[in-house]
Amino acid sequence: MKATQPVSLRTVDSDMLDAPLLSRERLNCDWRSAARGPALVLVADDDPMILLLAQQALDPRFYTVVTAENGRQALDLFNDKTPDLVLCDVMMPDINGFDLCKKIRLQPAGEHVPIIMLTGLNDAESIDQAFSAGATDFCEKPVNWELLPYKLNYVLRAAATFTELQVSEERYSLVARGANDGIWDWDYKNDRIYYSPRWKSMLGFEDHAIGSDPQEWISRIHADDRARVIAELEAHKAARTEHFECEYRVENAEGNYRWMMCRGLAIRGDDGVACRMTGSQTDITLRKQVEEKLAFDAVHDALTGLPNRILFQDRLSHCIELSSRRENYSFALLYLDLNRFKLVNDTLGHLLGDQLLIEVASRMRQVVRRGDTLSRLGGDEFVILCEDIEDITVATGLADRIQQRLLEPVDLDGQKVVIGCGIGITESSIGYQQPEDMLRDADAAMYRAKARTGSAYEIFDKTMHQKAMNVLQLEADFRVALENGQFELHYQPIVRIEGDKISGFEALVRWDHPKLGLMLPDEFLDMAADSRLIVPLGRWVLREACRQMQEWKRQWPEEASDWTISVNLSAPELAQADLIEALDDILHATGLAPTCLKLEITETSLIKNASHALRTMKALRDRGIRLSIDDFGTGYSSFNYLHQFPFDELKIDRTFISELDDREDKREIVNAIVSLAHNLGMTVVAEGSASAAIYENLRDAACECAQGFSIMEPRRADRITQSVADDVDRTEITGIGSIT
Ligand code: C2E
Ligand code: MG
Ligand code: MG
Repeated sequence: MKATQPVSLRTVDSDMLDAPLLSRERLNCDWRSAARGPALVLVADDDPMILLLAQQALDPRFYTVVTAENGRQALDLFNDKTPDLVLCDVMMPDINGFDLCKKIRLQPAGEHVPIIMLTGLNDAESIDQAFSAGATDFCEKPVNWELLPYKLNYVLRAAATFTELQVSEERYSLVARGANDGIWDWDYKNDRIYYSPRWKSMLGFEDHAIGSDPQEWISRIHADDRARVIAELEAHKAARTEHFECEYRVENAEGNYRWMMCRGLAIRGDDGVACRMTGSQTDITLRKQVEEKLAFDAVHDALTGLPNRILFQDRLSHCIELSSRRENYSFALLYLDLNRFKLVNDTLGHLLGDQLLIEVASRMRQVVRRGDTLSRLGGDEFVILCEDIEDITVATGLADRIQQRLLEPVDLDGQKVVIGCGIGITESSIGYQQPEDMLRDADAAMYRAKARTGSAYEIFDKTMHQKAMNVLQLEADFRVALENGQFELHYQPIVRIEGDKISGFEALVRWDHPKLGLMLPDEFLDMAADSRLIVPLGRWVLREACRQMQEWKRQWPEEASDWTISVNLSAPELAQADLIEALDDILHATGLAPTCLKLEITETSLIKNASHALRTMKALRDRGIRLSIDDFGTGYSSFNYLHQFPFDELKIDRTFISELDDREDKREIVNAIVSLAHNLGMTVVAEGSASAAIYENLRDAACECAQGFSIMEPRRADRITQSVADDVDRTEITGIGSIT
């Protein structure tokens, strides 16, 4: 009889069919998702009644039933349809149930398919046989049709869970293998750990070489990391952390340490107590090495391998902090600059320059004390931090040793080079708060050392510190002064000796400091030049001096017609690319004729960048602006050098002039300078004509002009205006005596 053959429902026990199947809806085949549709059940029995009853019992919404009347047919159907479950009778013609079961198990799709065997009641032998044939479960005959769907659902769910578990296990082991991770599983009840073979091989051990004792792991952890790992494990075990994660070093079979990243998750009972923890172990040694290298490179100099500025400043900050907390803690800082490094670099090339720095670094490394920090700040500048010293002799002793070592010749590719150094030392006793301040002062002391002997050390003391602080304060004040108009110009007349008439004025800047009073240029110009603040100041001086001279010319068109205004031009100003442009602008704005402006330049300004200076000076001359060489006699005083530059005027420094009246030798020098200057076509101005006698000597020396306190000290414009106005009233403008 074919399973599909209609059978009168009468033949089926009506109770059985109509009885409400207990919570049938709950059997909503919860073992599989609705998307996959009803489960396919293969029922094999040679009794057509059983086949029919099975069909009736299984709700078609959840089960599709295919039936077979014998074992052969069942096997064919199995291969054809691959059902989700097989329900088969034991006694069947041709292939009996046990053989069918065995055969299905051999099919590729049959390995895990649930097979339920219909056995006779209490037929223990058949049951045994069924299980050994590979059956999943059995169902006693006569079948309780009402309960069959429950059984099937249960078996199907178990099978699905089994498959899922298998897939998940497979996936997990694939992931673990793919990630090259080791697996561990700590059973807290028995205090044993399962270490996967990969876990062991990561440490260079064979599978059998490591047992299941937790100490196999813990004892291999680096002593510095062990306590931390244990604490992390405990924290997670006690549910204080959401998961266990730790990086640590572990000793491998060769006795080397490898960096591992370990992750784990505890499995807890209903009471929240962890019964086990399972996790993975990843080798992160390479990552750690890269990280360490990057971290090292960030704070070390690539060329010498010494700590760089960042690391040095960090250590210095630490020392400063320590010394502020501990009374007896002193330290010193040595700032070192090589003497001829630039020369070596320029003449022998950068490669040998680098070699020299490496050699210097290595020599210094040999002489510093253990625990001192030797660092390269950049270029040829090195610093040493001498921590915890009893007194300064530790630092000076080290400076001596370094200097000796660095005076030994260095062989650079067969070329012997002797390289000295200047060293500046500063001590914590000054009471520094900031590392930059200490570095700055050591640097300043180093410059002093170099300036003094070229190769020595200098200790930065409190007076130097105070001076440095004053300079800093002055610089800050200077910026405010520029904005607030605290600068003023004083004018000193320059007199043409022949006729004793004013030929012009020199503009001299003064700073009316709100606290320090009226300051002379010597007190602030060096600082202004160093900070380049002299440029904006110089621009203001030029504009103001030109404006004032033009005002005088308007006031006394006749008397002042050939007056000139002399303005000092510093080296940084001369180096400014837009100097010419600025001057054009000033002359245009003030209306002063270029020929009425004289710029005073010192020799030292020329030396700094001779070719650029020459170009600028030619451009100035082309505009008609006059040029004076200032303070002549104090610098190189070389006429050979001088004649290359287009000067109109030479100003003899007052050191030659001040004793002219009673020093024959000075008279000779002045005479010589005047005649040499005349030979070069320059007029001569004598500075510092401090007495009438000197003035007369200058006349004798054929010096064209004089400037000095005996004629008039520098004065504010209004006072000059007043004096000149008085003279004009007397219809005479003279240099000596009358303008006072
Ligand atoms: P300098 O250009 O050689 O100016 C002459 C200096 O000699 C002035 O000093 C002047 O007061 C002083 N002096 C003039 N006659 C006598 C005298 O008979 N006896 C003595 N003992 N001194 C005399 P000051 O004003 O203190 O200026 C000093 C220097 O500052 C100037 O020397 C100049 O190099 C510089 N300087 C002044 N003003 C400026 C400026 O606006 N810009 C620049 N760049 N430098 C300036
Ligand atoms: Mg001058
Ligand atoms: Mg001068």
